[in-house]
Amino acid sequence: MSFFNGKVVIITGSSNGIGRGTAVLFAKQGAKVTITGRNAASLEETKRLCLQAGAKHEDILEVAFFTIFYIYTCFQLIGDLTNESFNEQLISATVAKFGKLDVLVNNAGGASFEHWNKKIMEQPVSEFDKMMEINVKPVLRLSQLAIPHLEKTKGAIVNVSSIGAYLKLNPIPYYGAAKSALDQITVQMAGSLIKKGIRVNSVNPGPVLTNFAVAAGAPQEVSDKLFEEMASNPSIPLGRVALPVDIGKLILFLADRTQSEILIGNIMTADGGCNLISAMFPDK
Ligand code: NDP
Repeated sequence: MSFFNGKVVIITGSSNGIGRGTAVLFAKQGAKVTITGRNAASLEETKRLCLQAGAKHEDILEVAFFTIFYIYTCFQLIGDLTNESFNEQLISATVAKFGKLDVLVNNAGGASFEHWNKKIMEQPVSEFDKMMEINVKPVLRLSQLAIPHLEKTKGAIVNVSSIGAYLKLNPIPYYGAAKSALDQITVQMAGSLIKKGIRVNSVNPGPVLTNFAVAAGAPQEVSDKLFEEMASNPSIPLGRVALPVDIGKLILFLADRTQSEILIGNIMTADGGCNLISAMFPDK
């Protein structure tokens, strides 16, 4: 029987990309999953895929939180992890439905291509704040809220960071800075929470074929071209970009005590060898 059979897992940012791929893998292993995102239609698609993978209806909780803003003459419906009360709702609704929490996957995140390739000092500081709001603060809030529940189950937190955290030349430097902060938080949390029996680790992907660039503001054709070029570019020694399932498998590995108990505060680079290029060819 799978380690995850009957385990309760929250995966943020599971309406798309890596989070969706990960939710489906957990569902396949018999976990009860809480899936969440801002886009209700995309979230429905994740649910459909989880059911297709063998999940039971009652083992899936979709959490969409809607704040109604009245802006000029129209209503906007927004579900957003940067909203503190949504973080609380996510944890409490999960524990209310499933009775416990075993794994928190802090996957949601994103960048902005608005100032793509501008030098760091030409980018407004407000951009840095935006990157921290989505890539760092929800991780801190959700993890703090999850601690009492994870302590009871001797559970795990897996953060999704990026190789952008340690790229020297990064066209989106504040995104990289936010992910660097996240890595530091992973390590600090790991050291402190292991005393409660909670393991904390991180997966840091290189390029993964998802909606990431489009969500960051790139036109679809630009995103398609980017991934196409990367796949044929020697900058990825493996010769292909990762798929969400490649990263999902590592997330499950880090969440599974029977497989990875010895890893605490591990920052796992998952980039098809991108990082090796500069080591092998220092002048490139
Ligand atoms: P996607 O854009 O495909 O998915 C991002 C997910 O995060 C979506 O489900 C999105 O929800 C959710 N999300 C984003 N912002 C918010 C918010 N403010 N509130 C709630 N949910 C939010 O990207 P990826 O799957 O690629 O990204 C997942 C993680 O992987 C991120 O942390 C990213 O930084 C990291 N990563 C990605 C890489 C890549 O090449 N793709 C490389 C390295 C790291 P919705 O769509 O419903 O708005």
